[in-house]
Amino acid sequence: MNSILQQDLNNFEKILEKAKQQGINFLNNLENIPTSNKNTIDSKRNLNELGLGSEEALKEFNNRLAPLLVSSPGPRYWGFVTGGSTPASIVGDWLASVYDQNTQSVTSQGGNSALIELETINLLLQLLELPDSFLGGFVTGATMSNFTSLAVARQWFGKQFGKDYAKNGISETINILTATPHSSSIKSLSMLGIGSQNYTVVKTTEGNREALDINDLEEKIKALNGKPFILISSAGTVNTADFDDFEAISELKEKYNFWWHIDGAFGGFAAVSERYKHYVKGWDGADSITIDCHKWLNVPYESAFYLIKKDHIHLQIETFQNSNAPYLGNALENFNYLNVVPENSRRLRALPVWFSLVAYGKEGFQDLIEKSTLLALHFGNALVDDGRFELLAPIRLNNVCFTLKGNENQDNVNSFLAKLNDTGKVFMTPTFYQHKKGIRASFVNWRTTEEDIKMVMEVMKNIINDNF
Ligand SMILES: *Cc1c(COP(=O)(O)O)cnc(C)c1O
Repeated sequence: MNSILQQDLNNFEKILEKAKQQGINFLNNLENIPTSNKNTIDSKRNLNELGLGSEEALKEFNNRLAPLLVSSPGPRYWGFVTGGSTPASIVGDWLASVYDQNTQSVTSQGGNSALIELETINLLLQLLELPDSFLGGFVTGATMSNFTSLAVARQWFGKQFGKDYAKNGISETINILTATPHSSSIKSLSMLGIGSQNYTVVKTTEGNREALDINDLEEKIKALNGKPFILISSAGTVNTADFDDFEAISELKEKYNFWWHIDGAFGGFAAVSERYKHYVKGWDGADSITIDCHKWLNVPYESAFYLIKKDHIHLQIETFQNSNAPYLGNALENFNYLNVVPENSRRLRALPVWFSLVAYGKEGFQDLIEKSTLLALHFGNALVDDGRFELLAPIRLNNVCFTLKGNENQDNVNSFLAKLNDTGKVFMTPTFYQHKKGIRASFVNWRTTEEDIKMVMEVMKNIINDNF
């Protein structure tokens, strides 16, 4: 063994203790760490001939690299849809690294950690009140979950023509219908060889909505003259957290032949709340569903899962199986993640979620989801009360899409947001909605409180008073 490695091994406990203390210092100080900074490095460090050992590496990390990092797990990082890790999720994440399993099989002598993943998926189905006719697994993010689901949809589409696209490539035009897809679904169409421009846009419902118009959907279906298609629908669009009408789509599924995918990256968690579960009524009829855990479940990146109906397991294996040998025996009995997802080697990604669900239970997440939506409403009300902002859409769930009031202020939106984000007190994302430049704040972090909203409103008022 290399002497530096040996030295690290001898000091293991001390090193881990230091890393733990580092973590505690960061997390206990999150409130004061800026949400953005202008620190930089030239990224051209020379690789040293002789190793420094972990303790020295940690010192260098603290001096040079840590200053780059922002408080994205903190209470006022409202950009994108960003959760922050909870204590239980960090325990799971650290232990996933420590145990360092290659999670694939439920039966092999090489380790059975996939049983933990299956148990976690089962807990998630209970949390979301979905039936166990779905089988799921973990991937890095909702992008990969959309990709995985749509890859199986692509194989299904080929089967309608007696083709095996996984083996022979795509030979028909694949019909895709969608209204307000997330950019990652479009990216998936590009990665899948379907083509990022090759989809038909369904109209949205009248009246400041992003949900698809069911009548227009049926018109577009009829125009396909009985040909199969793939429907990409939304449970929570990023700008306005709008939901397609899943009960109406379920009825169409009785009449027409299509694969139904739902992207519920964050909006799927509406199912956890009595108050909001009506948004997802009927979603259990989908063929595949995408959910992110590193958003509203507040676990560290990279964590998302797909759910695909068990009936489709053979299509899934045809798409992802890792060898050309015919699959041996019963696909569900000899289950191996290696044959149903894009990755071969994979970490025990389920563990942070398992710890979170067991530690906080259904009620913990109900509270979190409802608290987030209340905070979104408070923030929306504060914006309206101030009189110099306007909401671009009603607040349905946890996202607030707003802008500076008055068309004459459209040119100021970006500079206002830049000034706001430069304060490091809060971070929000620019957006474009209903032909207007806007700003989006998303409430998903378990640490956010009403005090944070008060503080942010003060910062926003000061910027407006000073500059406009
Ligand atoms: C965030 C998000 C995605 C992409 O998720 P990643 O985890 O960043 O890959 C896809 N769809 C929706 C609706 C999202 O909110």
